[in-house]
Amino acid sequence: MAGSKSNARVVIVGAGPVGMVCALALNRRGVAVTVLEQEPAPVEDQRAASLHPSTLEMLDDLGVTEQIIPLGLVSSAYRFHDRVSDSVVAEFDLGLMKDEFRFPYVLQYEQYKLTASIAAEYGNASDFDVRFAHGVTGLTETADGVEVEAASPDGPVKIKADYVIGADGGRSTVRKLAGIEFEGFTYPERFIKIATSFDFGKANPKVAFRNYFSDPNEWCNLFKVQGKRPPGLWRAIMPIQADETDEIALSPERIESRMQKFFPNSGRYQIEYVNVYGAHQCVAATFRKGRVLLAGDSAHVNNPIGGMGMNGGIHDGINLADKLARVIHGEASSELLDLYSRQRRHAPAHRAAM
Ligand SMILES: Cc1cc2nc3c(=O)[nH]c(=O)nc-3n(C[C@H](O)[C@H](O)[C@H](O)COP(=O)(O)OP(=O)(O)OC[C@H]3O[C@@H](n4cnc5c(N)ncnc54)[C@H](O)[C@@H]3O)c2cc1C
Repeated sequence: MAGSKSNARVVIVGAGPVGMVCALALNRRGVAVTVLEQEPAPVEDQRAASLHPSTLEMLDDLGVTEQIIPLGLVSSAYRFHDRVSDSVVAEFDLGLMKDEFRFPYVLQYEQYKLTASIAAEYGNASDFDVRFAHGVTGLTETADGVEVEAASPDGPVKIKADYVIGADGGRSTVRKLAGIEFEGFTYPERFIKIATSFDFGKANPKVAFRNYFSDPNEWCNLFKVQGKRPPGLWRAIMPIQADETDEIALSPERIESRMQKFFPNSGRYQIEYVNVYGAHQCVAATFRKGRVLLAGDSAHVNNPIGGMGMNGGIHDGINLADKLARVIHGEASSELLDLYSRQRRHAPAHRAAM
């Protein structure tokens, strides 16, 4: 642990992947952090599960990869399939970029495992203080800092921070309290994620660990994750028709018929978990307002296909930690934080305009 070099403290709201990675990066740069998470314990969030090569390099610089790579699935190739003709249309092999990347593959590793491992390994120190069951309810900016109010099992608490980072997800309380607009739209399409222990890898040799199936009526993405134990799980993500209610989509009969239509199987599919999601494309008007900063989903949300949300959010967290540490240590003026906002806002704002 780097140990904090000044009395400054940054409060990070949200112990999701972005909040935890940003906290570790700040702490490594000698800044004391307090992470406030509303849930009582690390959440088993079955959303993101793909860490891209550039993100792995950032995590490697924080000393995290040695621990997580053996626990994840190394996936160098991903395939595009035509569902109608049942053929592989294209394969992208990241292995061919071995001279460009330290990690020429995607690591399939569920986001809840990353957050839980950082919290367990590092988050028990006075300068890396992770507090669960602390839901942030208020922010008051003063001349030299921000007072953060949170609801805790022992009643309301107030914590003084030099800066606050909202890493509290798409519905960010921090963003709302700071009065920052969240501009964009919601796609009319919803989708369903079905996780099964059925081994697609064994049943279909055309399938890689990461697959995108095109189809005029029902596209499908199929990914393998480790789950809780070998041989792991396969997650199938498909669209839901506009007139299909969540109740129908989540019924065991509809899940079974959807999976049988995708890949006929003589037995019934063993389902491990299933969720329905909406997809949004929004970006905050600014990622910095005074001493309040936004990172990850609180700053931008996009369609999860392609796995850019958590990866882009981690890139925010690393960029911000580097600049904020320099400001806190007196090596740069606070204007550097506007550069953070401009640099990181540009990517999702550019996507939203397309
Ligand atoms: C089906 C699906 C698949 C996805 N797959 C991928 C993928 O493969 N790769 C990828 O990069 N992205 C993926 N994403 C997107 C990814 O899950 C998100 O971008 C990512 O979780 C954002 O991380 P975050 O830390 O910013 O926010 P979150 O993960 O949402 O974490 C926010 C945390 O803040 C806490 N919180 C909220 N309000 C408060 C409060 N007031 N006080 C204290 N705590 C609070 C929440 O409890 C939560 O723990 C996927 C999304 C979906 C829906």
